[in-house]
Amino acid sequence: MEPRGILMVLSGFSGAGKGTLVKGLLRKYDNYVLSVSMTTRAPRQGERNGVEYFFTDKRNFEETIKNDGLVEYASYCGNYYGTPKAFVEEQMAAGRNVILEIEIQGALKIKERFPESLLIFVTPPSAQELKHRLEKRGTETPEVIARRLARAVEESEGMEAYDYIVVNDDLETCIDEIHRLTDAARRAPVRNKKFISEIREELHGFAKGAE
Ligand code: 5GP
Repeated sequence: MEPRGILMVLSGFSGAGKGTLVKGLLRKYDNYVLSVSMTTRAPRQGERNGVEYFFTDKRNFEETIKNDGLVEYASYCGNYYGTPKAFVEEQMAAGRNVILEIEIQGALKIKERFPESLLIFVTPPSAQELKHRLEKRGTETPEVIARRLARAVEESEGMEAYDYIVVNDDLETCIDEIHRLTDAARRAPVRNKKFISEIREELHGFAKGAE
């Protein structure tokens, strides 16, 4: 099988628990890395530059777009978010599965640009549970919660574009499920084209020799 890692996109409604899932995946399994995005939104309490995000301003973000430094970017609730290119390329070449925790516009751009990427959509068991989790988080104002719920309606329209949907009810179960899907995806022919053509070529050689 090919040593190259998979480009994984993890999207889902704000409040679906993507952040916790990613942390769990990194803790529990080797071979995953998280891509740290660049954003123009202000840091939330406790967020550190270079850890949750690279925080920057609009001017620098637009400069990075111009220099082709991003794999994709999108505007979400009035701010820019984007995936730095160099890290993704290095880590995949080193055989690691790179997780992009990004919203749907970015996910669709990734699928278009990298058809062999794996798109997973994370959802809570119900809309009611989503609302409850957003309110419980306590870091957002009611206006922001309302905006994120409105955005969730839009995002629900795009769920069919994903390869898989996982329900985040029990955290550990969900982490294991994502790992199983990723592991299976690595074995798909579309992600092993080089391996297939090499083995085929070698077989041709043997068959010729036996003639
Ligand atoms: P938050 O402000 O809650 O951290 O993130 C808002 C949304 O932006 C989330 O859905 C998150 O997944 C998405 N996001 C984070 N980084 C990126 C990125 O690099 N590109 C895109 N397209 N979306 C991102």
